[in-house]
Amino acid sequence: NLTLGLLFEQTVNKYPNKEALVDRSRGIRWTYEQWDKEVNKLANALIGSGVRKGDRVSTFLFNSYELGTVYFAAAKIGAIINPINFRLRADEVSYILNDAKPKIVLFEQALEPQITKVHEQFPSISFWYIDVSTPSYAAYYHDRVKAAESTPPTIEVSENDIYAIMYTSGTTGRPKGVMHRHSNMVEQSLICKSALSVTPDDIGLVTAPMFHCAELHCCFLPRVHAGATNIIIHHFDPKVVLNTVKEEKVSLLFAAPTMWNMILQEDIQLYDLSSLRLGLYGAAPMAPALVNACKEQLGIDLVQAYGMTEMGPAITFLGKDEQLSKAGSAGKACFNHEIRVVRPNESGPSEPEDLLPAGEVGEIIVKGPCMMVGYYNREKASEEAMYKGWYHSGDLGYLDEDGYLFVADRVDDMVISGGENVYPREVEDVLYEHEGILDVAVLGEPDEFWGEKVIAIVVRKNQNLTADELEYFCKNSERLAPYKRPRRYVFVEELPRNASGKIQKFLLREGLASETI
Ligand code: AMP
Ligand code: MG
Repeated sequence: NLTLGLLFEQTVNKYPNKEALVDRSRGIRWTYEQWDKEVNKLANALIGSGVRKGDRVSTFLFNSYELGTVYFAAAKIGAIINPINFRLRADEVSYILNDAKPKIVLFEQALEPQITKVHEQFPSISFWYIDVSTPSYAAYYHDRVKAAESTPPTIEVSENDIYAIMYTSGTTGRPKGVMHRHSNMVEQSLICKSALSVTPDDIGLVTAPMFHCAELHCCFLPRVHAGATNIIIHHFDPKVVLNTVKEEKVSLLFAAPTMWNMILQEDIQLYDLSSLRLGLYGAAPMAPALVNACKEQLGIDLVQAYGMTEMGPAITFLGKDEQLSKAGSAGKACFNHEIRVVRPNESGPSEPEDLLPAGEVGEIIVKGPCMMVGYYNREKASEEAMYKGWYHSGDLGYLDEDGYLFVADRVDDMVISGGENVYPREVEDVLYEHEGILDVAVLGEPDEFWGEKVIAIVVRKNQNLTADELEYFCKNSERLAPYKRPRRYVFVEELPRNASGKIQKFLLREGLASETI
């Protein structure tokens, strides 16, 4: 019965004096033993405030030691953690709180203006404010945690208990709460720990948002599992990242593709990055040209993860030695995972038996030990998503002859132009090879003649880049059939992305439709 609480205790017992958690801006540097005391205090404080097994504890926090701490405090008492995206607005947060019905929300005070009055709508929820502006000071911490005992709580938790409800970013409709068990996460932790070869000597940087499973489950948790160190940065800032890597001798780092791109725009020569042994990328597609630029300019090994919140999240890894030989691929299935590409079905979930041959694009479906229990309060959606025991990702892709997965696009983002399927990602990957492009999104625009035509929305490195130049570049690309070529280029200052770095194409479509971009 290995729960996350127990997993944490095992590390504490093995590595009591190792540096565990560092939150530099708050003046925190804890060993595992010190951190464990804090975890116990918070666990007891939660119990003292009426949190019982199965109750939800929500967080609305940037990265902080409190977020790292509540993660294990909740696990130890069988409470369910519900980390909410700090970028959400009042409406969206209300929706989630209404759905998850937590007992307590740990809430970063600075985020208050963003969601004014949300707390007034929920008189039965206690809001524990955390003030990160003064080092080490936290309102809830003083009021509740300081007074609590540091003896371990004695609540029995089973590995089959739900430990988290995580609301997915969902590009359409309302977010759904993905439920995971302790056992799913222990498996996920093992898989990521071995895929990234995490050792107790590793020093990991936590810079992507911790409310998202890519950082939390693929990086933070496996490092705790291994007895490594986690250095927390409040939020992503490329200069702070580079500086912290240098000063803390960081060895492991996860960043979403946009973050890597932003890091590359910095004056890298100024920083000694020799401690960095591995960079993880994923959570959104990353163009091979950008992967190469990272390898060359940062001089580090890279590993890619592909996955989704519903699967815990990692389902494939592309190893450090496969980055060139299998460029553009997301890699092979994780340990104990099975991946299929099946014929998409217009009228319902695709049939798991309707397998497509190697090289043919279809829907990616997957099975594995970290699959969600289901969506909270959403029986029908859960049934559809896990039709016949396979999680239906809604992603399109294909497997090559060697069993490597290539992720094309979301089913909904595919463009059909003159009856031909165009996968925007393929076009984006080619455009990324142009050195004048900083960021790009390709999508379909309604067209009387073609049904849809391909257009590219481009962020330029400087204003000299013209549509003609890009048209010329695409025409000369060996990799782009004429029908895939953008028919129009729109230049913008920035692309809308969500917290895990995914381009929000629906916003671009809305902008195009209303002619605001
Ligand atoms: P989320 O709902 O935030 O868990 O996002 C899951 C989705 O992100 C997947 O269904 C993919 O569309 C996308 N995604 C995640 N990792 C990758 C990757 N390595 N390459 C391409 N797309 C990815
Ligand atoms: Mg999703």
